[in-house]
Amino acid sequence: MAKLTVSDLDVTGKKVLIRVDFNVPIKNGVIGNDNRIVAALPTIKYIVENGGKAILFSHLGRVKTEEDKKELSLRPVAEKLADLIKKPVTFVPTTRGAQLEEAINKMNNGDILLVENTRFEDLDGKKESKNDPELGKYWASLGDLFVNDAFGTAHRSHASNVGIASNMDQAAAGFLLEKEIKFLGNAVDTPVRPFVAILGGAKVSDKIGVIDHLLSKADKVIIGGGMTYTFYAAKGMSIGNSLVESDKIDLAKEIIGKAGDKLVLPVDSVVAEKFDNDVPNKTVDGDIPAGYMALDIGPKSIALFKDVLKDAKTVVWNGPMGVFEMSNYAEGTLEIGKFLGTLSDATTIVGGGDSTAAVQQLGVADQLTHISTGGGASLEYLEGKTLPGIAAVSDK
Ligand code: AMP
Repeated sequence: MAKLTVSDLDVTGKKVLIRVDFNVPIKNGVIGNDNRIVAALPTIKYIVENGGKAILFSHLGRVKTEEDKKELSLRPVAEKLADLIKKPVTFVPTTRGAQLEEAINKMNNGDILLVENTRFEDLDGKKESKNDPELGKYWASLGDLFVNDAFGTAHRSHASNVGIASNMDQAAAGFLLEKEIKFLGNAVDTPVRPFVAILGGAKVSDKIGVIDHLLSKADKVIIGGGMTYTFYAAKGMSIGNSLVESDKIDLAKEIIGKAGDKLVLPVDSVVAEKFDNDVPNKTVDGDIPAGYMALDIGPKSIALFKDVLKDAKTVVWNGPMGVFEMSNYAEGTLEIGKFLGTLSDATTIVGGGDSTAAVQQLGVADQLTHISTGGGASLEYLEGKTLPGIAAVSDK
């Protein structure tokens, strides 16, 4: 069923509690990358432009000691947000009590307030991370409406997402969450076919759930990256010194047996004697020779994958095709990314984590339909799991 979204709400004059994902890298008070703040702007702008009072909650890092609080205050984020949205942002350096309540009571329509790091509540019995019932109820009491726009934490049941939601009559998805549901959820559940999944990255073990779920949904599942060689080993091929998870070979055999011709493996690889960009490399077909490790897919695999992808109407991609961080082994990831950009009538979705970093670094992100903002949340969503943060949003 479709979820209630922020545009279904009448926010005028209302105190709107918004859970955003402002978990950004901060060093000595300086924000390294503000992508997540930028990603939350449409929802915040919508609420303030429609006369709502925007009360923002986010976690930042992990708070384990009193000392951690110094480095993990959201104050620098409030300043950054004010710059980006070109409006003052009131920062409240606490997560509860009179100071917070008074600041909220003073708000005018269209004002923005940011509450201190929700994980400051973790110092006293992990109240935020364990979804302490009293805390969720208290935060919910501070507002009239609740909007969840934090996809990155949707796989967790915390007080600031599930706790608040379960104490409000209605919870709505923000625009960012709505987009993630549309692409990672609906596009995978009811895909326009042919539906091709591309799975890469280092480890089979991280992606078993995703492989399983996508095999049941997709018409083809392409495997690339380091996990290829566990599948090669399962087929009895030589893998040289390539990455392998010996304890997952039986599982890879099972997957191969189950998947039949749905599974598409690389047919050639770029190999080198060391995990190093500056040593000579060569391309080999099939088996990996002794003394060599496979670090990227080769040109025949790129051609094969493009052929499988050319008629696709839905593509989900998670995990690079090779060691894309090193220029000599980035070709496979780059070529597949660029090719996805040419599929103009297909929905092309990148499933977060390292894949997001890869398409951004390689400059192909703009040509794709959706780049997920979640890491762990994206993987769990692609495994077909119900994410508590999404389940807690009301149906339309
Ligand atoms: P993941 O987090 O599972 O998506 O894995 C991403 C990492 O896998 C990246 O850091 C890549 O460098 C690495 N990777 C991709 N292909 C290979 C390979 N053939 N050998 C070793 N590492 C790889």
